[in-house]
Amino acid sequence: MARREEAQADRIAGRLTRRQLIELEACTRCGECQVWCPVFLQDKRECISARGKLSLLQRLVNDGLPDTELQDFLQGLYECSACGQCHVVCPVRINTHELWEQTRESLVSAGIPRPETQTKQLLTIKRANNAFDKPQQDRGLWAKKAWEAGLLKAPVPLWREQPSSVLYFAGCTASFDPEMQSVAVQTARLLQEAGVEFSILGDEEPCCAGKLRRMGDLEFKAEAEKRISLFAEKGIKEIVVSCAGCFKGLHSDYAALWPGAKKVRHLTQFIDRLIQDGKLRLKHAVPLTVTYHDPCHLGRHNQIYDPPRRILQAIPGLKLVEMPRHRAFSSCCGMGGGLKLVNPGIQHSMAGVRIREAESVGATAVVTPCQTCYMGLQYGVEETASSMQVYHLNEMLIRSVCPEVSCGEISARFQHLQTT
Ligand code: SF4
Ligand code: SF4
Repeated sequence: MARREEAQADRIAGRLTRRQLIELEACTRCGECQVWCPVFLQDKRECISARGKLSLLQRLVNDGLPDTELQDFLQGLYECSACGQCHVVCPVRINTHELWEQTRESLVSAGIPRPETQTKQLLTIKRANNAFDKPQQDRGLWAKKAWEAGLLKAPVPLWREQPSSVLYFAGCTASFDPEMQSVAVQTARLLQEAGVEFSILGDEEPCCAGKLRRMGDLEFKAEAEKRISLFAEKGIKEIVVSCAGCFKGLHSDYAALWPGAKKVRHLTQFIDRLIQDGKLRLKHAVPLTVTYHDPCHLGRHNQIYDPPRRILQAIPGLKLVEMPRHRAFSSCCGMGGGLKLVNPGIQHSMAGVRIREAESVGATAVVTPCQTCYMGLQYGVEETASSMQVYHLNEMLIRSVCPEVSCGEISARFQHLQTT
């Protein structure tokens, strides 16, 4: 190896943990990961699968790679939704998705750039504090609009004016994406219906920075520490998040930096408890046969499988049927790991596969508690020209608790506000 390549290989290896370096040697090349990888199903090159990536990475850190093989490795590393399916099926339990994220960071630190589209999104997040490049002062507007539109029982207080025992962390997507603001509005209303006292940070709410970790940004740790300091300054002890990506960020990515990460809960866990305690009453029947799509960030990465299923099963009139691939074997919709920024066509095909699977079990709707999966599955509906409905789990709950806050009603009232 030339001296420059040797130094580069050392830098890459230097940022991997001892366990990860051992994992490179531990792969038996059995190929089980290929059988299950949803991206490999669409692009059958060896470098796409975990086996191919591990083999190339092992050579990269030991001997360096010729340029063509380095390009193959980079394609495999970034054309990956970091879904973690390969970890679940691997007989030696290589922690693949952690390895991919850490390798992305290692490569950038060694001067091997990530795809331009991912870099652009990371710069936007760091500059604007959200991936939508929207002004930060607009972050809490969804709550103001929802109150003005008569969708809430009471105004949602700002933490700086009225701190509570619980912070509702809405996240960038539900705060800024007009299509997904219904998730924040419905979350606030459901918490109010159950008598939970909560506040929001509004324009002080930061991006969770989870995407920085997903795409291997070198400043992830520093950015996470800024957010942890903010929570400490404000005396925030318990956080509820409605976004699966924010949950992965604040609960899982922050775990090594912050003991408070344990007190971050996903809305499905919180609502499940409220239903079990008799605080949230499911009154109206929702006569639908639905199947449940496990988001990777909640399911495989955090083992939250039962609370969302218990919620659906508690809704009167609703019938839950499982797809062949569910829980730890749930097939990824392709929206994670920055894959869609690199190859949207593959994401659409992956989501199409999931929609066909939902059709195969006789469901008329697929339900997910993740707004990113919700959007991803919609691409799958378009891809397959299916009549399958896609719902966020909140919509099912709202139809049973207070149907006057359904998605259709929210968008009609928000539009009315804009025109008056
Ligand atoms: S399943 Fe595990 S051991 Fe087998 S090839 Fe894939 S990564 Fe290697
Ligand atoms: S994390 Fe998912 S997409 Fe990436 S290699 Fe593993 S199975 Fe394939």
